[in-house]
Amino acid sequence: MSQVPFDSSGVFVGGRWQRGAGGETLPLFNPSDGTLLAQIARGTAADIDAAVAAAQAALDGAWGQLTAAERGRLLLRMSARVLEQADELARLEALDVGKPLRQGRADAMALARYLEFYGGAADKLMGQTIPFANGYTAFTLREPHGVTGHIVPWNYPMQIIGRSVGAALAMGNACVLKPAEEACLTALAFARIAHEAGLPAGALNVVPGLGEEAGAALSAHPGVQHLSFTGSVAVGRLIQTAAAQHTIPVTLELGGKSPQIVFADADLDAALPFLVNAGIQNAGQTCSAASRILVERGVFDEVVARMAERYRALRVGPALDDLDVGPVISARQRQIVEGYLAVAHESGLHIAATAARAASAPAGGYYVQPTLVADVPAAHRLAQEEIFGPVQVVIPFDGEAQGLAIANGTDFGLVAGVWTRDGGRALRMARKLQCGQVFVNNYGAGGGIELPFGGVKASGHGREKGFEALYGFSTLKTVAIQHG
Ligand code: NAD
Repeated sequence: MSQVPFDSSGVFVGGRWQRGAGGETLPLFNPSDGTLLAQIARGTAADIDAAVAAAQAALDGAWGQLTAAERGRLLLRMSARVLEQADELARLEALDVGKPLRQGRADAMALARYLEFYGGAADKLMGQTIPFANGYTAFTLREPHGVTGHIVPWNYPMQIIGRSVGAALAMGNACVLKPAEEACLTALAFARIAHEAGLPAGALNVVPGLGEEAGAALSAHPGVQHLSFTGSVAVGRLIQTAAAQHTIPVTLELGGKSPQIVFADADLDAALPFLVNAGIQNAGQTCSAASRILVERGVFDEVVARMAERYRALRVGPALDDLDVGPVISARQRQIVEGYLAVAHESGLHIAATAARAASAPAGGYYVQPTLVADVPAAHRLAQEEIFGPVQVVIPFDGEAQGLAIANGTDFGLVAGVWTRDGGRALRMARKLQCGQVFVNNYGAGGGIELPFGGVKASGHGREKGFEALYGFSTLKTVAIQHG
């Protein structure tokens, strides 16, 4: 317990830490060794009621009276504090999520950058005057929705809080954040940072708890005017159904089965690190993981061999050892991933390489051997379903049309990567790929805080990140004044 330098068992409502209304707690486990890490509050519907009331009070009070520039300065102060505490935040994330320290630090830097970006943008979104009928002046006003609900998963808590809460606060909303029950220490640390930076009470409230309790209560609450959800497709559908009862807008950032498409003319030396890293980063538990590698037949064997070589060199071990791959989040997640690996074996698929677990990895940790599966038929379960673990499938294709058809041939549409030296092909692919982001001759653009992000098809709808998110976290009011 002493590994967490603050009391993690409370809810943060109206600028104060308090015990959850039900008085119960939930255990957090360290994925690197399976030991008990901390207790968190098991938030209830009563806590969500209190948090929504506190958020509304903030909108009616000090928070609602700040100018856009003042909100921006507050976000910049929060950003500076996140930067100061980046190492501590990375350590918390390593303990809680099992993320290697380098990745946790990158997430903390991303959180700081989101706050900086949205702090700078807070006073830059303007309405318009509209040329209209004689005798009228018509214009639009950008306004906050009011109370916004943010339900986030465990895989990238800091980045997802940065992009959704950061943008929502910039636009003047008051937020109720429900972090994931598997990992929420950095969400709690973020509440402390916001408070220390001077964010008015109630502008940000954090209620940890179970999805079906605190999460369901938040998504059903009549006092919430917008929901931002990042998580699984199944829960995303529940959130959209709940939002429909109050006809409020939702942003759904859901799963993916994102391809990187390697054409025979690609610069393979440049592509190789991206092909593997985008599959094993965060132990493959990344919504935009490149879990499918599509390779044109002429270079298929070479790409598989070179990826396999990299897989065999990967070091898998405890997050604090800061190796290439940490554990997955939970014993349950490990079971799911191992289930897919069993299917691969049963189907006789070609296991091109696995990475070994380091000797330092404790027996109680939730480790999965990163696995590269080659020659996978495009319709196979492993090539269609989101595994959410360090498993990549490699699929051969012949020519642009077939590559495109396979790339678009899943229920998902989040991100795609294209590797080619042919500019015309890059543009044709970019236009025809069904997804929210296309990267040509790179993958992920280093995080791309400025780049709008989100999915099509089962990957969700709405956009976060970039300036675009500010439109989603605000509403437009039209004013038409008749003055003769
Ligand atoms: P999940 O849907 O189980 O949980 C996500 C959040 O929803 C958690 O906070 C959970 O408590 C809450 N929740 C669960 N049931 C709920 C309910 N009935 N009502 C309200 N809230 C509820 O997802 P997960 O397994 O924790 O996360 C993995 C999924 O998230 C993957 O599918 C992944 O692709 C996706 N994801 C997407 C993005 C993106 O930006 N597109 C980013 C990260 C993760």
